[in-house]
Amino acid sequence: AAALDDRRRALVERRQHRLGAAYRLFYRDPVELVRGRGAHAWDADGNEYLDLYNNVPSVGHAHPAVVDAVHRQMSLLNTHTRYLHGAVLDYADDLVSTMPAALEQVMFVCTGSEANDLALRVGREYTGGRAWIATSEAYHGNTALVSAHSPSLSGAEAMDPALRVVDPPDTYRYVSSEAAGAAFSAAVAEAIADIERSGDGLAGLIADSSFSSDGIYTGERGMIADAVDLVHAHGGVFVADEVQPGFARTGEDFWGFQRHGLVPDIVTTGKPMGNGFPIAAMIARREVLEPFSTARPYFNTFGGNPVAIAAAQAVLDTIRGEGLQAHALEMGEAMRTALRDLADAHPRIGDVRGAGLYTGLELVEDRETKAPDTALALAVLEELRERRVLTSVCGPSNSVLKLRPPLAISAADVPRLVDALDDSLTALGA
Ligand code: PMP
Repeated sequence: AAALDDRRRALVERRQHRLGAAYRLFYRDPVELVRGRGAHAWDADGNEYLDLYNNVPSVGHAHPAVVDAVHRQMSLLNTHTRYLHGAVLDYADDLVSTMPAALEQVMFVCTGSEANDLALRVGREYTGGRAWIATSEAYHGNTALVSAHSPSLSGAEAMDPALRVVDPPDTYRYVSSEAAGAAFSAAVAEAIADIERSGDGLAGLIADSSFSSDGIYTGERGMIADAVDLVHAHGGVFVADEVQPGFARTGEDFWGFQRHGLVPDIVTTGKPMGNGFPIAAMIARREVLEPFSTARPYFNTFGGNPVAIAAAQAVLDTIRGEGLQAHALEMGEAMRTALRDLADAHPRIGDVRGAGLYTGLELVEDRETKAPDTALALAVLEELRERRVLTSVCGPSNSVLKLRPPLAISAADVPRLVDALDDSLTALGA
């Protein structure tokens, strides 16, 4: 193990030297993963890990259906995207068939950031407004425009002067979804009034309906519907950032926004769409996209190329063929039930919340004050890593464990998580 540690230390140094300081690693003792299967991954020394973090290999690490589809298409042809290709259109038809009928047009890109970059431009063009509303810890991506609309980066990046930031519907501190939803609507109403007073013009609201980086607030069904109605009533658009909740993650619905019974004007997707092969998309109402698309050409060399489409089609087919949406619902419920039972023995577990295979477990100093316990959450991450369970944290204080495994997690993985967390909290005296 000493030799491996030296080797890993050398990799860390080479990485910093060659890639620069902007890239961050997880863990004091960084993990070097070399292969995966389902919800499990193995490091260079042959140790096996339970992966509770990766929603990118959504149908499972190295899923053979995706591997075969990519291999087959790559062996035939891959090109830039200015030629006809039927499979691209078949996939676009299939993708929009999972959404409300009003969402008709698809633009393919390579990353969630690109999809959101397009969405912000399309929404501004359609409404004539400049000002977007986003939640206080939201992350929407890494382009100049999107970083300027990602308040989680506000310590490092300048925010867009027209951006209005609102608190997410914190179902834990507002106690009920109803109260959290009402507070969210009131915050959005205030932001809209401020935008109208300033003359910036309302573009709309961009939000991830599971509020992932805000701390995971899936809430009860319909929680954010009133806020979106308000945006529409004032001429703005709603961009549903589905990079996290999309593709069956929440179990009850295929898309996160469907949980709230609303029809977005623009939907953006990414991460799980190609099971790790880069493909993302912006899907919009025809009339919303039209002013943007008639005013300019748009070219994206790799976006929606035949190989990327083959991966994406295999993902959709696998989610359906393996019943992964129902599976996500069942596994997620089992996980939260078991974690709530565990909370009986560990008073620092303040809240267990989520939908489907998207669970947030919030660690607090005590349940009365609900004061977030950042130090404990970070220590638990390291303890879990020692027990070969991979996850991370989110929320404004990094106090919420983010449990977001591949949809292919198995029933036996749930007690393994619960035992590892039990042992970790006990080891930390919590
Ligand atoms: N939106 C959300 C909600 C995300 O979580 C992320 C990535 N963490 C992005 C957009 C950006 O996606 P990408 O990294 O593919 O550019």
